[in-house]
Amino acid sequence: MFTKTESDMTPALPYDDQGVPVSVKIRERVKAARQRFHSNDNIADFIQPGELDKLLDEVAGKMQGVLESLVIDLDNDHNTGDTARRVAKMYIKEVFNGRYVKGPAVTEFPNAEHLNELMIVGPITVRSACSHHFCPVIGRIWIGVMPNEHTNVIGLSKYARLAEWIMGRPQIQEEAVVQLADLIQEKTQPDGLALVMEASHYCMAWRGVKDMDSKMINSVMRGVFLKDSNLRREFLSLIPR
Ligand SMILES: [Zn+2]
Repeated sequence: MFTKTESDMTPALPYDDQGVPVSVKIRERVKAARQRFHSNDNIADFIQPGELDKLLDEVAGKMQGVLESLVIDLDNDHNTGDTARRVAKMYIKEVFNGRYVKGPAVTEFPNAEHLNELMIVGPITVRSACSHHFCPVIGRIWIGVMPNEHTNVIGLSKYARLAEWIMGRPQIQEEAVVQLADLIQEKTQPDGLALVMEASHYCMAWRGVKDMDSKMINSVMRGVFLKDSNLRREFLSLIPR
């Protein structure tokens, strides 16, 4: 059972009448539905209206505790007084928002012109954070689509919206590209899909080996891009890297 204490230095956590934190209630719903809730999973279906703000309050309270444990004088340091809430807001509403909101609405159009030529979209700038260190991952992706006459067509800007939603979660690059490829595959049903992501990982630049220049490159090839090496070469040669 969860109990509320008054004397705590941290702000009151958002408990309900029974003293249950909102994160526990959301987690129970996810578990009851037997869904995964890894850092790069979306859990929007399990969050009720108004709960995201309560979750932000809860994270701000916990973050305040982290700052206290880092022995920062939160009462007198004018720079860090609101940092806990700023960080909580950044996580929930900005950089990890792709976990907490439903996917962008994407209107699909029938392929009226029966396009069947290679189409390349990119570079799309992507921003994420690694799930190991919560350090930024900033990079670019290129998407190659080989449509057939039944393939749905989506607007160019929609690829960027879908990418933003997938990348707005703590990710590892290898899984992020697969998640995005699966989503685009599902929305457009092309004969082939190719995806290349090149990104700088700040957990290698800011800490660790402190290498400022290394980039990680991942590719996913589906359908005709797997079978047809000429098509694959054409796609890769057209990407201005
Ligand atoms: Zn990392």
